Amino acid sequence: MQQGQMTRDEMVGLARAMAPAMRERAVTYDLQASFPHENFADFRSNGLMGVSVPTRFGGLGATYADYVRVSEELGRSCGATGLTFNMHNATMLWCGAVADLLDMTPAQRASHEAIRTEMYRGVIERGDIHSQPFSEGLSPGATSGVATKAVPVDGGWLVTGRKIFASLSGAATFYNVTCQVPGEDEIRLLGVPAAADGVQILDDWDPLGMRGTVSRTLLMTNVFVPQSNEWMPAGLYNQAALRYPWLFLSLCPSYLGLTGGVLETTRLYLRGELPGQAAGARRDHPIKQVGWAQMQLKHQQSRALMYRAIDEATIDPTEAQLVLGWAAAITVMEHAAEVASLAIRVCGGQSMLKTMPLERMYRDSRLGSTMLPWSAEVCLERLGAAGLYD
Ligand SMILES: Cc1cc2nc3c(=O)[nH]c(=O)nc-3n(C[C@H](O)[C@H](O)[C@H](O)COP(=O)(O)OP(=O)(O)OC[C@H]3O[C@@H](n4cnc5c(N)ncnc54)[C@H](O)[C@@H]3O)c2cc1C
Repeated sequence: MQQGQMTRDEMVGLARAMAPAMRERAVTYDLQASFPHENFADFRSNGLMGVSVPTRFGGLGATYADYVRVSEELGRSCGATGLTFNMHNATMLWCGAVADLLDMTPAQRASHEAIRTEMYRGVIERGDIHSQPFSEGLSPGATSGVATKAVPVDGGWLVTGRKIFASLSGAATFYNVTCQVPGEDEIRLLGVPAAADGVQILDDWDPLGMRGTVSRTLLMTNVFVPQSNEWMPAGLYNQAALRYPWLFLSLCPSYLGLTGGVLETTRLYLRGELPGQAAGARRDHPIKQVGWAQMQLKHQQSRALMYRAIDEATIDPTEAQLVLGWAAAITVMEHAAEVASLAIRVCGGQSMLKTMPLERMYRDSRLGSTMLPWSAEVCLERLGAAGLYD
């Protein structure tokens, strides 16, 4: 740790200090399906905007493992804020800690250094927000199903394509998209300026849960992207996805935090201490205590697996290490929905009133297992084959 660098606990403390305001705002974001602008304004003022930006670029210098704890803390109060903040941090980490682990030629390393210096400056000095709409609905793979094209022109590319579930629509400064130059095999990671000509946001956004992510459809028609917005040198995104797939777990801590939020809400409700609840304490029935115990058990299992997978993450993982990662993804995402469902059984019908946070958390928790490229099904399929073939 460099001198003056924040400790992990201090970083998590910044997120925890936002909790009361975030819990209150979460109600509005959910009701209106609107982006958590106020929370991002707070990230700008308390420094969390640059939590995963290395200290030498002016950030807080969180490691991936530090960031996971911060993200979990945010998810406890507002799942949609945790998830949108993750899209921003994923780019910070791909270009920072992960890029440093990858093989590059000296020329690639030098050009990457120059580009990320400017990218990080935008985040730290202007409060730029990065999103990462990768999904096109064509294939679940991290490096497949990319139909978005980047046609080389003088000084950059003209990008054309359509991304679904483009979280942070209308709020991001950059839409960081995966795309391909016709004739090339590798994926490129380009930062499409949100304000550029040819960028359109389409479709309504009125989903079941995680409504504050505002994940609408992004249409790009011949959008000029300058060379300076190629966030990783050509070929490096493929290398990162293959050699450091751990970043695909970065969606999990939002849901792990959400699970913790469900637990805390249930605990207060059973004690009769949840603000706004009509009924008093209702903790005495043994069957409720069994349900409450099961909820804690699942939460502890999720935390243990998630922390272990992230804390042991290394470049070029073995299959045995990947098994741990896939198991962590399935466990965290499935347990989020299971724990929220148990919370309804334990607390009962009154807890499901729209005025109670459990109702929103129950809806939010359902979506974790669908998140690609490491969705619960994809991970289950890989676990199903692990160890059985050479
Ligand atoms: C709130 C929210 C925010 C999101 N934000 C972003 C974002 O910012 N950026 C982004 O890129 N994406 C984002 N996504 C998209 C997400 O990662 C998935 O791409 C999306 O949910 C897939 O939806 P689909 O309808 O195309 O499902 P499908 O791809 O049809 O998948 C349906 C189910 O089938 C499974 N499945 C599909 N293909 C396979 C296969 N070959 N093997 C095994 N299982 C398979 C999937 O796991 C899933 O459970 C977001 C999604 C949600 C819900």
